[in-house]
Amino acid sequence: MSKGILTVISGFSGAGKGTLMKRLTRDYDNYALSVSMTTRPPREGEREGIEYFFVDTDIFQKRIQQGQMLEYACYCGNYYGTPREYVQEQLENGRDVILEIEIQGALQIKKLVPDCLLLFVTPPSAGELRRRLEGRGTENHEIIAKRLARAVEESEGIEAYDYIVINDNLEECVRQIHSMVQNAHHTPARQEALIKEIRGELNGFSKGAE
Ligand code: 5GP
Repeated sequence: MSKGILTVISGFSGAGKGTLMKRLTRDYDNYALSVSMTTRPPREGEREGIEYFFVDTDIFQKRIQQGQMLEYACYCGNYYGTPREYVQEQLENGRDVILEIEIQGALQIKKLVPDCLLLFVTPPSAGELRRRLEGRGTENHEIIAKRLARAVEESEGIEAYDYIVINDNLEECVRQIHSMVQNAHHTPARQEALIKEIRGELNGFSKGAE
């Protein structure tokens, strides 16, 4: 069985990544969505173990020391990280794993797993991003300002990604992400067994013709 694709999805806060991920895992079967650990307090409606594992800084640091985090980063004053075990298990079982993480974590993953797929989600414009962040109503002005300042930094790193996805139309965006992941299954690096088999057969034919 071929291993699954590890896809990293980043994007400015307010780009709509959370909604996209929910839709992607609802519409298609083969995705496993990694649940991150964070020291940020839960927003209204967020549930332990569904949106995040919510922990305090002591526990988070312990998990880092124990080597249990695949990657982690500090974002706007809170730690966020990906628990290693779930991701490894799912990939080995052939599932396509999605990490919805920010850019520092994405770059750590690229080093660890060079054939991962890095996707960057953005709204069609900066004005639209601000409208969405303000319209969400889950953060106060100070936090929104922090997140917009962070978006400036993140915009500097977009070139490190494999593809940009413009989140204008939800359905279209989900289809695009799905086809990008499916296409990644067809790169020669991921088709080694098939290539080997065809080469072997071709060699057999040419020997038969001698
Ligand atoms: P939020 O607080 O809006 O849920 O997430 C803030 C940022 O942290 C988002 O850009 C999100 O993608 C990122 N994030 C969520 N989980 C992780 C993680 O496990 N690792 C890293 N590096 N970033 C994460």
